[in-house]
Amino acid sequence: MTSISDKLAIEGGVPVRTETLPYGRHSVTDDDIESVVRVLRSDWLTTGPLVAEFEGAVAKATGADHAVVVSNGTAALHSATYALAIGPGDEVAVPAMTFAASANCVVYQGGKPVFVDVDPDTLTMDPTSLRDRITPKTKALITVDYAGQPCDYDEILKIARQHNLRVIDDACHAIGGSYKGRPVGTLTNLSTFSFHPVKHVTSGEGGAITTNDETLAQRMRIFRNHGITTDHWQRAKQQSWFYEMVDLGYNYRLSDINCALGLSQLTRLQQGISRRREIANAYDSAFASTPEISPLSVMPDVYHAYHIYVVQVNLDLLDANRDQVAAALRAEGIGINVHYVPVHLHPFYQSQFGTGIGDCPAAEKAYERMITLPIFPDMSEKDTSDVITAVQRVMNRYSK
Ligand SMILES: *Cc1c(COP(=O)(O)O)cnc(C)c1O
Repeated sequence: MTSISDKLAIEGGVPVRTETLPYGRHSVTDDDIESVVRVLRSDWLTTGPLVAEFEGAVAKATGADHAVVVSNGTAALHSATYALAIGPGDEVAVPAMTFAASANCVVYQGGKPVFVDVDPDTLTMDPTSLRDRITPKTKALITVDYAGQPCDYDEILKIARQHNLRVIDDACHAIGGSYKGRPVGTLTNLSTFSFHPVKHVTSGEGGAITTNDETLAQRMRIFRNHGITTDHWQRAKQQSWFYEMVDLGYNYRLSDINCALGLSQLTRLQQGISRRREIANAYDSAFASTPEISPLSVMPDVYHAYHIYVVQVNLDLLDANRDQVAAALRAEGIGINVHYVPVHLHPFYQSQFGTGIGDCPAAEKAYERMITLPIFPDMSEKDTSDVITAVQRVMNRYSK
């Protein structure tokens, strides 16, 4: 018999927390605010000096030769598929377990995303499935450093070399992480980042692409500015009004206001990751004795950036499904989430590309079991222990 106080909040018991803890949250300091205010008092709100400064800082933080900043992470992915000249008739391999934008960027260019299954323990691209899905039309592949853990790049890059494929790393989860001592941002031809508020570093909205290839960087700088070869800042410096549009681009520019926030935030990148790793460690140790849930595996030679902390519920041991567990946790005040609905199961891909259930069994199985628990640098010890208490309480209740 469970006592009244053990009753779950969803059954009328007292919740672990009255105010919901979100799964992720930005942290903005007074320095960040001052940095933005300085721009507001300056001559350049956009296309000014902070764009190059932020690009320099992103390049330095990732160890890449070049960074190009754009208006968001999705624009970064689109700039990357554009730079690699993906077009109609081209296939691009994309993992099924990711945010839709990782695949949409192929469709923007008229190409076809081909979904690759994931490793069931890490949920990063499974190299065996990748080999299976390569065809003579495959031109590139997009890796996703899911949750903040770099993929199995030794294997994946070997396959890419064998088939002459270019590689884009959708590293929106993994800025500041590394693989065998090599920083994320330098592992592939192009790497893309997002500075949305739930990510490690925010500029409000924002994104970047890093590369060691100067030609690709130059192509993307033109692409983000309508396909025009010079921007306003360059023309002001050259005292010239003349410009030429050489290709069809977009307005994917990032304003100096955004860059100021991003620059200030970037100085705390590693500090934030250390804090995220502390929280992940606390979860790992607490859940080691909770067989009803399994955290994802971490490979030995990666530095995990922990954008999110994902666990899989062991349905065999429970009298509840994932949705019931998720609802019970939310009722306890834990703002859990699910990352992600496998992309090939979205109605758009099913109807436009004929994808469907059975295409990527490991991703589909993981989707039925996954829950994202809160993790962000400003979480207190109390917040962390509330999550652990709520998870253990819900698991005790639903355990067979
Ligand atoms: C956040 C994210 C994006 C998109 O970034 P936005 O800045 O929101 O456009 C793309 N891919 C992944 C894996 C992401 O997590």
